[in-house]
Amino acid sequence: YWSRNKDLRLDDNTALSYASAVAQDMHLPLVVLHIFSIGDYKSHDRSPRRIDFQLRQLAYLKEQLAALDIPLYTLTHSGNRKDVPRVVCDLLEEWGATGLYANLEYEVDELRRDTEILERTKRARETGEGWKGQVELFKDFCIVAPGEILTKQGKPYSVYSPYQRSWLAQINSHLGDYMHKQNGPVIANPSSTRSHPVLGSLFSHQIPESIPGFELEGGEDEASRMRRLWPVGDGVTESIMHRFLRTKMRPAKFFEAPLESEADGDVADPKKKSKIGEYCEGRNRVDWDGTSHISPYLAAGLISPRECIRLAFKLAGGKELPGGRDTGIGMWVQEIAWRDFYQAVLVAWPRVSMGKPFNLKYDGTVAWAMDNDGAKLKAWKEGRTGFPIVDAAMRSLKEQGYMHNRCRMIVASFLSKDLLIDWREGEKFFMQSLIDGDLGSNNGGWQWSASTGCDPQPYFRIFNPASQSEKVDPDGAYIRHWVPELRGVKGKAIHDPSAKLTKKEIEKMGYVMPIVDHAKARTKAIEAFKECVASA
Ligand code: FAD
Repeated sequence: YWSRNKDLRLDDNTALSYASAVAQDMHLPLVVLHIFSIGDYKSHDRSPRRIDFQLRQLAYLKEQLAALDIPLYTLTHSGNRKDVPRVVCDLLEEWGATGLYANLEYEVDELRRDTEILERTKRARETGEGWKGQVELFKDFCIVAPGEILTKQGKPYSVYSPYQRSWLAQINSHLGDYMHKQNGPVIANPSSTRSHPVLGSLFSHQIPESIPGFELEGGEDEASRMRRLWPVGDGVTESIMHRFLRTKMRPAKFFEAPLESEADGDVADPKKKSKIGEYCEGRNRVDWDGTSHISPYLAAGLISPRECIRLAFKLAGGKELPGGRDTGIGMWVQEIAWRDFYQAVLVAWPRVSMGKPFNLKYDGTVAWAMDNDGAKLKAWKEGRTGFPIVDAAMRSLKEQGYMHNRCRMIVASFLSKDLLIDWREGEKFFMQSLIDGDLGSNNGGWQWSASTGCDPQPYFRIFNPASQSEKVDPDGAYIRHWVPELRGVKGKAIHDPSAKLTKKEIEKMGYVMPIVDHAKARTKAIEAFKECVASA
């Protein structure tokens, strides 16, 4: 079983479960392989945080697999990334493997890599040279796999709402298949695997502590912060889901440590009074503990997305999976559907994984503003734009590798509209910083915000940072936490200090004046997009 970057778990893992059953049937040992391809990490802007998270989880999986007498072998490949198929096949030849089983990754480079493996083994079978075993690839990353639901005209959906209705109908019409785990558990190897002449030595193989070029910038300090914020190990995903499904929403300083355990115990009426029960309002407040924080675990596959909806279904207690906007559970299920939607978009329109806008009328024609010295982009990255909600959000990203969804939308709109900087700069910086960075969701979110994507925010609807700030953080608790310079600012002035305070007062607090005038920037952005549409 070839473990990939997005399926790092033993439970409900399609390819692993299948590989395990085949091994059992054929009385052959199962081996787990994981490749760290530095070339891919570089070209995909993989964040050191996500790699650190992956290494921690692999170390944990190694222990779990060892208890089943299954070796986990990792290999760091620093050469040309196009050589990965050859490297894998050579290893399989050396091990005398009969089959290779893996879950599909839907990004273009990954699909090309898998195609090359298939072609290579086909050639080997024809010529008799090289590894010629069986290769099987599985759909696992989504609940409803890309291509499985189409419009009435047989085309992929490019708009979310009808997609989501069809997605929900697909699940509810095959409820038994989705609500009962289809993937069996991993079966132990015979203990003699440990003394196998070739495979025995793999048990002593160590998982590396870091990958060259991807060490955490903040060293041990950052490593221990990431371990505290985003733990791995026994019962972690269960407790995160429990926390979201069964305990109450908190307006406390949760953003310091989003997954800190709750002292109060479970709520009596979780369908209504838990975080998920109050998700319709909770998801829009960045100062509340209103979302699940499961994204890093879903992105790297520490939890199966099917398990997420199974838990939601069980809590809802009805005959169907709810997916409407009228209950917290239904609303949350809708968010999970966004994740599948963006994967389906990746597969149907592969150009979005190649730096192209979904909507080609915006391909290179928007007059992105000149930021020659990079000062504006730098201010945005560092959280020093003079717009408190933007700065608070960008600083939370730096500290935690995570940002609240509302804030992701606000900072993305600010970069692509107020600063008129190419959204691809923001997309890249997010991938380099997020612990939950995932091409489909990240690209989808950026293109939505920049109005270049499928089902986009229309270009003339531009977020006003100050009024957004009042909505999502009415008392300014989130801003005061992340932007300590502003702690002394009273009342509503926290959302737009330069409207109430003088430049001298702002600078005295150690804060900065706004780097753009929002009203003027808005007009300029609308003009730039309008021109682009007119010339398309
Ligand atoms: P919850 O609100 O609890 O939602 C549950 C899960 O549903 C999430 O964990 C996620 O897997 C999925 N989900 C929720 N909203 C979305 C969405 N809009 N699109 C796709 N999936 C969604 N999400 C990522 O997982 N990785 C990214 O790299 C990423 N980049 C983004 C960039 C931008 C500009 C925007 C606007 C959104 C991005 N998102 C990304 C989506 C969303 O912001 C995060 O999934 C969410 O904030 C994670 O927090 P949570 O787990 O508490 O979410």
